Amino acid sequence: MSKLVVVIPQAWGDQALEATLAAAQQVNANQGFAAVLLGSQASAADADVASRAGASAVYQALHPGLEQTDEAQVLLAAACEALRSIPQTGGELSLVLLPPGPQGEELAALLADQLDGQALGRCVALRVENDTVHAERAAWGGRMRLNLQVSAGPVFACLRGGRVALSSAGQAHRFSLELHSTLRKRLTVVAKESGQRLPPLEGARLVVSGGRGVNEHGFALLETLALGLGGTLGGSLPAVDAGMVPVLRQVGVSGKFVSPRIYLAVGISGTLQHLAGVSPDSSIVAINPDPEADIFKVATVGIVAPWESMLPALLTHLNA
Ligand SMILES: Cc1cc2nc3c(=O)[nH]c(=O)nc-3n(C[C@H](O)[C@H](O)[C@H](O)COP(=O)(O)OP(=O)(O)OC[C@H]3O[C@@H](n4cnc5c(N)ncnc54)[C@H](O)[C@@H]3O)c2cc1C
Repeated sequence: MSKLVVVIPQAWGDQALEATLAAAQQVNANQGFAAVLLGSQASAADADVASRAGASAVYQALHPGLEQTDEAQVLLAAACEALRSIPQTGGELSLVLLPPGPQGEELAALLADQLDGQALGRCVALRVENDTVHAERAAWGGRMRLNLQVSAGPVFACLRGGRVALSSAGQAHRFSLELHSTLRKRLTVVAKESGQRLPPLEGARLVVSGGRGVNEHGFALLETLALGLGGTLGGSLPAVDAGMVPVLRQVGVSGKFVSPRIYLAVGISGTLQHLAGVSPDSSIVAINPDPEADIFKVATVGIVAPWESMLPALLTHLNA
């Protein structure tokens, strides 16, 4: 049987803890799993929940630098050290689950890179059979399902598993791991041609967002426009799935909620799932060649045109 491990930063709160444990139960209902809780102090309550959810071992991986930190590189260093420290069962494939959501997906990808594993990202179903991980992923905004199989690990993934079922008492063995890593931020700054970096979505006064109607060249223009106007870049789920924009910039019900003054939506049809991520107080400016697109029902300004004609004209105007 493969080894199932969940890694949960305690600073991410009860929701992350319970959602990840629920995912572990869905993958491996009765076989038990190891839970690694990253934090600055041991939490008996969190260890108890993990144990009652079916963990057979709970490792509290502790370092003072983990207090309330959301910094991905710090969590990465801590998670790597913790995973290297817990007992491995020789030759078995391990599946490591991180909390579902953009932060967990980012940490899963960083861990896969650091530990020579496979990143499966956001899965809609996961099971392990005959030492192979079978994963289902949604693509093209949920219209398509991809079936993936991985038989060499470790495998890092996120899964939404519904509500966690807790028994009245758990039987996990509990361990304390003192982490020794220097949890300094180890950020690599990639110099862009423009020398400018995009600000985060949170707090941005202008968000320039692209959807399935925009290709790679169009996204490069959107980024230039966002930087030129002092705003930032976002995208719809299909744009994230297509690799046009990072998952941390996804706007919508399963991404981020934004409340800029202006939300420029380019090549976005205006589905409820997308608009759930845009504040009703934001003014939406939409560019779309389909006059029937739903986005025009909520837009303050609507431009019926393809991005190919509008974006170069806007940039020329901006440069002038
Ligand atoms: C549980 C669940 C959660 C979801 N969460 C999210 C979420 O968080 N965020 C999210 O965005 N979606 C989410 N979705 C997906 C959502 O249902 C839609 O599939 C998605 O929002 C559609 O994205 P889109 O507007 O980019 O693509 P589409 O709906 O395909 O629209 C593309 C638009 O581009 C236009 N277009 C085509 N060519 C051009 C051109 N040359 N120039 C300009 N426009 C052009 C088209 O007219 C069309 O209106 C979720 C779905 C589910 C089931």
